[in-house]
Amino acid sequence: MVDDMKIGIVGAAGRMGQMCVRQVAEWQGCSVSGATEVSSHKALGHDAGELAGIGNIGVPLTADPEGLVEGADAVIDFTSPAVTASHAHLCMRAGTALIAGTTGLSDEHEAGLLEASAKAVIVRAPNMSVGVTLLLALTERVAGMLDDEFDIEIVEMHHRHKVDAPSGTALGLGEAAAAGRAVRLSDVKKTKRDGHTGPRTPGEIGFATLRGGDVVGDHTVVFSGAGERIELSHKAASRAIFAAGAVRAALWSRGKSPGLYSMKAVLGFED
Ligand code: NAD
Repeated sequence: MVDDMKIGIVGAAGRMGQMCVRQVAEWQGCSVSGATEVSSHKALGHDAGELAGIGNIGVPLTADPEGLVEGADAVIDFTSPAVTASHAHLCMRAGTALIAGTTGLSDEHEAGLLEASAKAVIVRAPNMSVGVTLLLALTERVAGMLDDEFDIEIVEMHHRHKVDAPSGTALGLGEAAAAGRAVRLSDVKKTKRDGHTGPRTPGEIGFATLRGGDVVGDHTVVFSGAGERIELSHKAASRAIFAAGAVRAALWSRGKSPGLYSMKAVLGFED
């Protein structure tokens, strides 16, 4: 019989952190081994399960990232870019898997994750849901089948608290579309239009960002041709889908060789 997988949650009082505590406690084959928060957080010392609304699970919140990483087989991190990069470093030293859901990572943070992946399994995805992972695969495929006569625009909407734009998922969809067209997103990306913009540049991939209310996450990739339009959409109704994907990735990481993986690999959507 295989032991339950020990999963640590970083940022356990946050919106995604609480959702992850709930999911890990509910899934078979794993348990919450630790939970951390920033050292100034008022919830330190409180039970992670109670905070997440599922009752006491005997895991108090600490501000001890080393202890969290060393006591876990995998750590799930939905926090902020610098925090995630520092946990990647700790996971590299301990050989613990890191499931990194944080978005808005700079090139420097990305390089940190890549470096850590030489010694630890790192699963990184701006969107951990099954549906968006499929949308990414479909976007790449459709972009590869249509030529430049079809303009690609990506529209996203999120809740009013979101701090980065366009969303990591929208940028991921842009990367997928660019890959399908065999171009680099950085060469064709258009994230702002204001004032006298002139006509659309052929081949560009445009982004539009909407913010408001409590929208969990809507994404649409529009392929606009002459006289016809194709739209691929995903709408998230609950944050539970992201946490469920993260737990799935954590369970999948067991026994895998060190490396930087995407959710496509976790879900078997890539060769
Ligand atoms: P949030 O602000 O509710 O939660 C973040 C938590 O991290 C906070 O409780 C904060 O106190 C804590 N934190 C900050 N510094 C810390 C530290 N040093 N140690 C431990 N904890 C620390 O934010 P959120 O809505 O849960 O989103 C977090 C991140 O996850 C964002 O980047 C968001 O875009 C991303 N996200 C990704 C997905 C996905 O599927 N990949 C889905 C939803 C959100």
